[in-house]
Amino acid sequence: MSTNSGVVFKNVSKLFDDFSAVDNISFEVKSGQLITLLGPSGCGKTTTLRMIAGLELPTSGQIFIGGEDVSNVYAAGRSVGMVFQSYALFPHMTVMQNICFGLSDKSKDKAETLDKAHVVMRTVGLKNLEHRYPSELSGGQQQRVAIARSIVTNPKVLLFDEPLSNLDAKLRRQVRGDIRDLQQELGVTAIYVTHDQEEALAISDEIIVMKDGNIDQKGSPKALYQYPESPFVANFIGEANKVTGQLAPSEKDSEALFSVNGKTIFSYAKLKQADLLNKSCDAFIRPNAIVILDEASAEDNSFTAKVLSAVYMGSYVEYMIEAEWGAQLFMIDYSFNEPCEVGSSIQVKIDHRGVSIL
Ligand code: ATP
Repeated sequence: MSTNSGVVFKNVSKLFDDFSAVDNISFEVKSGQLITLLGPSGCGKTTTLRMIAGLELPTSGQIFIGGEDVSNVYAAGRSVGMVFQSYALFPHMTVMQNICFGLSDKSKDKAETLDKAHVVMRTVGLKNLEHRYPSELSGGQQQRVAIARSIVTNPKVLLFDEPLSNLDAKLRRQVRGDIRDLQQELGVTAIYVTHDQEEALAISDEIIVMKDGNIDQKGSPKALYQYPESPFVANFIGEANKVTGQLAPSEKDSEALFSVNGKTIFSYAKLKQADLLNKSCDAFIRPNAIVILDEASAEDNSFTAKVLSAVYMGSYVEYMIEAEWGAQLFMIDYSFNEPCEVGSSIQVKIDHRGVSIL
């Protein structure tokens, strides 16, 4: 693959009549990175992807692929491969014919075309299936044909538009791993669209979270999960309980104390915003940051809570609890302990590593 295949958006907007689907966004995808556009339905992910593909042109702003300004170049003039959620395979063509379709205009040499197709078939694990028709393949195999067809032309950039939505949950996990492995093996720049946050966290170097045609936050999966910069990102990437309270200085310089109605709930060690001290602020607490303590063991800043509901999910138990200081909290317990009974009183503490204060 090309060494310079990065994608750059500079102040790009897309209007449909007077509706702004994408509103003045700027970002960079470095060569060889896999970046995911993540966000709720209608936030502008697909429009952004289609502008990279050249299926839509921007209303204003500039798009660069491999350093070249392609803002006014349609799809045929860009070196981009695209994998759609419907796979878009030709049903009357065999696997081999589907894969060679994109090459037919570009290579006049039939033997060379077949050689290339065999190489990509091996790469995506489709050996010996060249004579089958799409209807004779599993969903996962059809997806591999779609991927093979998109990489056989050696594109600078590979685009994936919700490629797993037609697969069942188990297969999704496997195919998303295969896509990530293949992308890394080829070293190709990839941009992936999904509304599934788990999928985005699992495969991406970086995630761009979009909302209403804008970029809300861009960062690595870990940075977005641990340091969300807005309530929207805190809720969209993993769940979070919002609790309004106050941050007060602690005796330790590096710490602050979060309290609700005068009761200290937890000490907070990653305080970046000194301007939040002594003011009302919101803590976003992850469900797995609320930890059940052994019976009757009270630690610093632990508190009692009443179990309002308990749902056994096999590898974890989901609880709604009511803290003694008033808030109702959703929590998840991954331990092997017996589920707590509804109506019982439990002792819990909050692990500040699963909290963001905004
Ligand atoms: P989804 O996850 O549902 O596919 P999305 O985030 O990909 O959503 P887009 O398809 O990019 O969203 O659409 C963004 C907005 O632009 C939506 O409100 C949509 O209705 C609008 N839109 C998209 N394409 C067109 C078009 N061709 N004409 C008019 N409006 C459009």
